[in-house]
Amino acid sequence: MPGVYIKTYGCQMNERDSEQVARSLLARGFNLVAQENEADVILLNTCSVRDMAEQKAIGKMGMLQRLRENRPHLVFGYLGCMAQSRGAELLQTSPGVDLVAGTQKFHRVAEYVEELLQRRMNTLMDDPRLPIVDVGEEAGSQSTIRDHLAKAAQASAFVSIMQGCNRHCAFCIVPQTRGAERGRTIADIVEEVRGLAGRGVKEVTLLGQIVNLYGRHEFEKRDGLSPFVQLLEAVSAVEGIARLRFTSPHPIGFRDDLIAAFARLPKLAEHVHFPLQSGSNRILKIMRRGYTVEKYLDLVDRLRAARPGIAITTDIIVGFPGETEEDYQETRAVADAASFDNAYVFRYSPRRDTPAATMGDQLSEEVKEARNKDLLDVINRHTRMKLDALIGRRVEILCEGPSKHNANRLTGRTRTNKVAVFEGAPRHVGQIFDLHVISATNSTLYGDPAVLDS
Ligand code: SF4
Repeated sequence: MPGVYIKTYGCQMNERDSEQVARSLLARGFNLVAQENEADVILLNTCSVRDMAEQKAIGKMGMLQRLRENRPHLVFGYLGCMAQSRGAELLQTSPGVDLVAGTQKFHRVAEYVEELLQRRMNTLMDDPRLPIVDVGEEAGSQSTIRDHLAKAAQASAFVSIMQGCNRHCAFCIVPQTRGAERGRTIADIVEEVRGLAGRGVKEVTLLGQIVNLYGRHEFEKRDGLSPFVQLLEAVSAVEGIARLRFTSPHPIGFRDDLIAAFARLPKLAEHVHFPLQSGSNRILKIMRRGYTVEKYLDLVDRLRAARPGIAITTDIIVGFPGETEEDYQETRAVADAASFDNAYVFRYSPRRDTPAATMGDQLSEEVKEARNKDLLDVINRHTRMKLDALIGRRVEILCEGPSKHNANRLTGRTRTNKVAVFEGAPRHVGQIFDLHVISATNSTLYGDPAVLDS
């Protein structure tokens, strides 16, 4: 049975795409291996969001070539975003690569890999039919990410509901790598969620690049509800699913019906990841984000009113081209005022083929670093306050399994998406129960195991 090693870079959508590829390879008789040197096929599922992520994958592919010395039949492939954006150029950048498969081709990877492995096994040498590059558009590809790996006591799962993005934020390469917005049907998504619930999954996270604009071009509004809110209702109705999340939404997609959904759909978990990107209206405009700071803060207030206690996390870019000290101070003030539960703070780095990459007034790394550090201090202060406020309280958690850092402990997430660690028993894995919080660090809650037996 040939072995496949898959390494995934980047976001949850990539993780989900890799799972689909793994599932389709298993169906063809491959097995997944944990070590590169045991593999007959090595696939890197790549990310293009930052230049560093691309360089990491290219560097890794270079290092891996030495494995062919002992395993000349080895098949190497690039999948996903960088494969899509660079295409055949990667064959020059990374000699020895056999497969370059783009973001609309994950469902074809197993077939290609099988073919490539057979050719490699038969010839062990250069074959004129090598390599395969497939980065074309394919109608219906958004509906092909739907199979899940069977995992023991799986508590939560990601469900890909759409692909692509029609917006063109000045810093972002996603529209080039993932194409235009395309949604799956509600019926198809609900069937997948039912299948997951039947396997004991209790929490699903709906995934899309611009998830709350799901279906806006393909499906009708119904009773004043957007296709996305119709989907939330339909998934909420699936028996066995106790928590529903989605990521990543765009502020322009938070219309009244979605805010009202937080008040009336109890399975919607109390957490929204809600990218701010900048607290300066001037920079937001240059970024082409399509909202103002005032609009963003109003949405934050309305979400908190619709669902008291809701956690709000965000993404912020510092050091965007032309960001003045005054712009940055505005961002800092907004981050402080919004009191986020947490935030990913990014130092702006130019992405080729994006408008921001060629804008004048690119900032120095020193300025970016100083703003990054200063903003993280603000964010961390609020994160710590939110975690400390839970000490002494009971919180509902869904136990996911052993803690990454200490296999003798279990870990889970609260409805507000905070990580909790505790001493428990195997019977707790995959279950929802209350935890008595006894302490907190900057990122983690620790619970009282006594409560588990009560
Ligand atoms: S909305 Fe998101 S995915 Fe789309 S271009 Fe902007 S940052 Fe990129």
